[in-house]
Amino acid sequence: MVNVAIDGPAGAGKSTVARGAAKELGYIYVDTGALYRAVALAAQRQNILGSEEKIADMLSAVTVRLKFDENGEQRVYLNGEDVSLLIRTPEISMAASSVSQIPAVREFLLELQRSIARENNVIMDGRDIGTVVLPNADVKIFLYASPECRAERRYKELLEKGQNVKYEDVLKDVNDRDYQDSHRKIAPLKPTDESVMADTTGKDLPESIKMIVSVIKEKING
Ligand code: C5P
Repeated sequence: MVNVAIDGPAGAGKSTVARGAAKELGYIYVDTGALYRAVALAAQRQNILGSEEKIADMLSAVTVRLKFDENGEQRVYLNGEDVSLLIRTPEISMAASSVSQIPAVREFLLELQRSIARENNVIMDGRDIGTVVLPNADVKIFLYASPECRAERRYKELLEKGQNVKYEDVLKDVNDRDYQDSHRKIAPLKPTDESVMADTTGKDLPESIKMIVSVIKEKING
């Protein structure tokens, strides 16, 4: 099986680029952030988001599964319920970021991620795929873009959604989140020695996908 790990900061375009590249190569695209989001939703429903201990205890009674439909689109199930849409809220983004710092949660999701990679050709996107989840991945890519470029993309997205935001505030959020993600104690965001550094600054989606597909093909075919 071919395993491709794509890590990088929020807003670099990881999920859209990884999904596009997977489609072109006929691989499964695995969005691991959805798993942390599902655990966050479970904790939110039980009203225990503030307690690391209760969240760790909750895990023995929770099942999280990924399924892929006929178009290869990922669906995430929490205790048998399809929660793929429910996890896409700003509250769950925040909650996912906080539960992802709990070692028991990371451990709980580890084998699930590895088993999918054992059984499928995958492009897996996250923060610690190349470093922790798939240390033997055939290809490791660290996808990034300048903070200004990522803030610009996020700013435009929010404006399109009708939200009244200032570019400076969005840029500050991007910088704060980068700091938090790369300085956390457990599984911090960082490239490995073997990672191919892929910069999407100033590149549109088709250009970014093309770049990633050619990196993958080159590594696989030698
Ligand atoms: O990628 P997404 O925004 O959906 O991820 C939600 C949160 O889950 C992130 O803020 C990140 O802290 C966490 N995460 C992680 N490790 C991964 C994927 C996501 O810690 N492999």
